[in-house]
Amino acid sequence: MSAVLMDGKVLGKKIRESVKTRSASLREKGIIPCLAVVLAGEDPASMSYVNSKEKALTEAGMDSRDIRLPYGIEEADLLSIIADLNKDDKIHGILVQLPLPDHINEEKITSAIDPGKDVDCFHPVSVGNMVLGRQAFLPCTPHGILVLLGEYNVPVCGSHVVVAGRSNIVGKPLMNLLIRKEYNATVTLCHTGTKDLARFLQQADIIIAAAGKPGLITPAMVREGAAVIDVGINRVQDSASKKGYILCGDVDPAVAEKAAFFSPVPGGVGPMTIAMLLQNVAESAEKRL
Ligand code: NAD
Repeated sequence: MSAVLMDGKVLGKKIRESVKTRSASLREKGIIPCLAVVLAGEDPASMSYVNSKEKALTEAGMDSRDIRLPYGIEEADLLSIIADLNKDDKIHGILVQLPLPDHINEEKITSAIDPGKDVDCFHPVSVGNMVLGRQAFLPCTPHGILVLLGEYNVPVCGSHVVVAGRSNIVGKPLMNLLIRKEYNATVTLCHTGTKDLARFLQQADIIIAAAGKPGLITPAMVREGAAVIDVGINRVQDSASKKGYILCGDVDPAVAEKAAFFSPVPGGVGPMTIAMLLQNVAESAEKRL
């Protein structure tokens, strides 16, 4: 079997085009959708994520308020910047790029964002509402995965989904969305405390790998005909490459010979995350009408 490759680039582009139309219609009504992007420090991966998000915003006819801060910024100063952004009517979404510098309490910062502008779904109120199925912006990466599965008609309803990784931004929210009645999946959430990961993966109809461990999932761990979504983004040293590293996921791409569907890295979930972020900003701006 050779898997159908789930192309997040193509689908992400389609979604960004539709966001562009929504954005143009908002502009006609005098609203310019705007995301504040806050980055503290100069972590190369974070800088690259922030740059791609800002580029995508511009292409979709949206504004971004680029706030770049030194690594040494005081927590109180960052809180005050967020308080100002919360009050600013021109700002429809606030994104604080994680990880934050070590001396800053991430919980304090994400809890300071107005849930009405929390387009990343990091605030505890947003997370609570999302878990309860109430109104909240859906977390971008998990939402992007669900939209990708839907686009390729991967049966989710009644399926056994095994997720590797229990982070607050991928694994946990993904589990909560998948068990909603609209998706009706049965979920097993694996993590570093899981004994014999392969035993669980081999039972999965759908595998979602979000552990940040290159090569974690090999073909032997995957059931013939499963759908495999690779979320991991790992920088692996490679002297042959110009940058000195290559980006790879958590899944050995050879699983594509066994799986029915495969979402690779790069080109799978990454572009979907950005598309979902833009959608959330558009939704937030539309609420102002
Ligand atoms: P994280 O790095 O905060 O945590 C990793 C999780 O994986 C932990 O919960 C841990 O328990 C689990 N884990 C680690 N080793 C494991 C193993 N051997 N077996 C089972 N579970 C294991 O998680 P994160 O922030 O969700 O990031 C995970 C990966 O996804 C990273 O590579 C990250 O770069 C990537 N990511 C990609 C996107 C995207 O848009 N494509 C978005 C977010 C994160």
